[in-house]
Amino acid sequence: MDRIYPELKEIVGAGFVSKEPEELFIYSRDMGTMAPCFPDVVVMPNSTDEVRKIVLLANREGIPIVPMGGGLVLSGLSRPLKGGIVLDMKRMNRILEVNETSRYAILEAGTSQGMLQAYLKKHHPKLKHSIPDAPPVATVGGNVLIHGSGHLSHAAGFHSDMLNGMEVVLPTGKVVRTGSCAASPYWFSRAPLPDLAGLFIGWLGTTGIVTRLAIKLFPNRSLSDVAVFLTEDPELVPDIIQRITGLQMAEDITAWMAPKPAWASGFQHVIVNYAADSQEELTWKRRLLYAAPRKYIDDRTGGFMPLPPNMKKTFLEAPATNLTVFADVKKGGGFEYVGAIMPIELFAQAYRLGIDIAERFNTTYSTGARIIGAGHCMMFFYAYPFNRADSLDVQRAQDALEHTNRMVLDMGGIPWKAEAPAQKEIMKRMDPDTLDLMKHVMAMLDPKGIMNPGNWEPAT
Ligand SMILES: Cc1cc2nc3c(=O)[nH]c(=O)nc-3n(C[C@H](O)[C@H](O)[C@H](O)COP(=O)(O)OP(=O)(O)OC[C@H]3O[C@@H](n4cnc5c(N)ncnc54)[C@H](O)[C@@H]3O)c2cc1C
Repeated sequence: MDRIYPELKEIVGAGFVSKEPEELFIYSRDMGTMAPCFPDVVVMPNSTDEVRKIVLLANREGIPIVPMGGGLVLSGLSRPLKGGIVLDMKRMNRILEVNETSRYAILEAGTSQGMLQAYLKKHHPKLKHSIPDAPPVATVGGNVLIHGSGHLSHAAGFHSDMLNGMEVVLPTGKVVRTGSCAASPYWFSRAPLPDLAGLFIGWLGTTGIVTRLAIKLFPNRSLSDVAVFLTEDPELVPDIIQRITGLQMAEDITAWMAPKPAWASGFQHVIVNYAADSQEELTWKRRLLYAAPRKYIDDRTGGFMPLPPNMKKTFLEAPATNLTVFADVKKGGGFEYVGAIMPIELFAQAYRLGIDIAERFNTTYSTGARIIGAGHCMMFFYAYPFNRADSLDVQRAQDALEHTNRMVLDMGGIPWKAEAPAQKEIMKRMDPDTLDLMKHVMAMLDPKGIMNPGNWEPAT
């Protein structure tokens, strides 16, 4: 490290490389329950060429390199499990192009969700991107690369589905492009070329460093509204969701269940956000939406909840700012969640097992699901709060999370942005030939094993 430190300074400038203990402390942890791991050095590149030079250096010396966006996944994925370099991408935050006609934006990968949201509001108010409920400093790159989801996920699927193309620095220092931009000045689509994006999405920074990406944008309608359908019976929720998603009219559909506040306890809330360009269109959509689950209103097993304007405002907020309130139940609170990608028909089972686990580990919980696509699957989340100052409480949350990961796999779901131990559990259950293919892909792209090592590494 002593040898490469001056070289890193030379590449990024003295102000953007550090091995000061207080800075390494910050980069050693995230806000979840995973134990800290210290980097040897932190670097903030400002261009693709700087990333390339840093990667070549790390490659020459066989030093681990861990790309990091906002560092907000909560499951510790940008902690340097084997030390080395943390490559903080936040300086690479330029919005390079917005194509209004073909509705996409080309960005540097460290552009934050908040920056893009503010930029579009100011310069292209008729367009928006799908916003996750993560804090606004989360990066677009970090989120797309982990298969995130957000406020347009019913309309358009996972955020990775909304990716058109990427520029990637490979672990060997080569710079490649995926999607139409590999052969065209336009970054309009992943089709019709072989879809190389799959070599980098879901790999948790183990196959390359994405420096630029293009994501799809969508119409930003002038009016929006929200409807909340309530039932006490979780068994009914999949059919209610099927009926509502069948209309393909909403932007975002989430379900939410929590023991607090007391008025919410015992209810399944299905929250439907929809938008329109005129009052007439909004009224028409509301009418169809209210008719879709009619059967349950008629047999008195469910109904729409009247919402006062201040509550509507809360449900329409993007990103939602009230999500973390439950973690402050205990002073000094943090929280971590298992996000499980699974089919909608597992909803009731997933909900009941979540409550069992919370009871077994004597913790409160917040559970819910975001519907992806036209009811094609859901991201079911199990969030547990903890008191950061109480190591036993942190351990209890960690045990509950670990148990939840196993339970999700037993049910047939797959933990999303899984912690390193949960990744091993997934690989243990994976079809061996597929696991073998994964190993080959990693070895081919990263022959020295320098990229975010310790992730997607099978148990030995
Ligand atoms: C309160 C709260 C609410 C949340 N709500 C949502 C939600 O609604 N939807 C959602 O999807 N997520 C949500 N999250 C999870 C998470 O915060 C987001 O997904 C976030 O966008 C991740 O982006 P990041 O920049 O923090 O990624 P990071 O944590 O920095 O990185 C994630 C992974 O990608 C890799 N990586 C990062 N940048 C690059 C790059 N340029 N090249 C290669 N690999 C890279 C990292 O090594 C790591 O493995 C939430 C989190 C919190 C705390």
